[in-house]
Amino acid sequence: MTHPVIAIDGPAASGKGTLSRLIAKKLNYAHMDTGALYRAVAFEVLEAGGDPENEEDALKGVNSLTQKIESGDPASPDFVLHNAALRGDDMAVAASKVASQGEARKRLVTLQRRFARNPGEGYEGAVLDGRDIGTVICPEADVKLYVIADIEVRAERRMKELQSKGIQATSGTVLEDMRARDERDKERKASPLKPAEDAVMVDTSQLSESEVLEKALEIIQEKLSGPT
Ligand code: C5P
Repeated sequence: MTHPVIAIDGPAASGKGTLSRLIAKKLNYAHMDTGALYRAVAFEVLEAGGDPENEEDALKGVNSLTQKIESGDPASPDFVLHNAALRGDDMAVAASKVASQGEARKRLVTLQRRFARNPGEGYEGAVLDGRDIGTVICPEADVKLYVIADIEVRAERRMKELQSKGIQATSGTVLEDMRARDERDKERKASPLKPAEDAVMVDTSQLSESEVLEKALEIIQEKLSGPT
């Protein structure tokens, strides 16, 4: 690859999505939120009346999503992945059920790697965030960050995010869903959530968005300038 690739992984609401967007904007990189891919598959499954835990239904969902993305029109990746219906916690839980299935994951690998290789005209690099970017999707990434935060902090952030979007939620349910999702993501056999050996840990619990960005940019600069 001729351009840099940044892999950002971590659990739900750890701050990796916000950080990825800020990095992309600052460095003029293209950004892919790979969680949105799994959410979009879950959306396809539920729309078709399927069960996200059923392998056949999940694979149909993957096929339907990839067809929409590849057909370009009218359901372009932007439309499919930025659908507001994907942002609720019900869709996150369904996404983590789809995401625990090895075959469904395998079929989404090419799409993600293609994006990392070809972020698009005019971009200086690619930043992808998810759960397995540094370990499975882009093991050769130039920079790998593993973003974490205390679960109470993450649940609080998720509550605020949901409220800001007008989505009803109670803090107990949000915390419970998050614990279940963390466990499913970490314990699954297929590409479990874990830091790559060469990932740099960033704990965002006590930091503001701009402090996290500053810290990440320092790490990126150091990694991209190579060994001193
Ligand atoms: O990042 P987000 O919370 O939107 O992801 C939703 C779910 O999608 C996660 O809980 C996880 O199960 C799954 N996911 C994944 N691998 C990725 C990105 C997301 O398994 N690279």
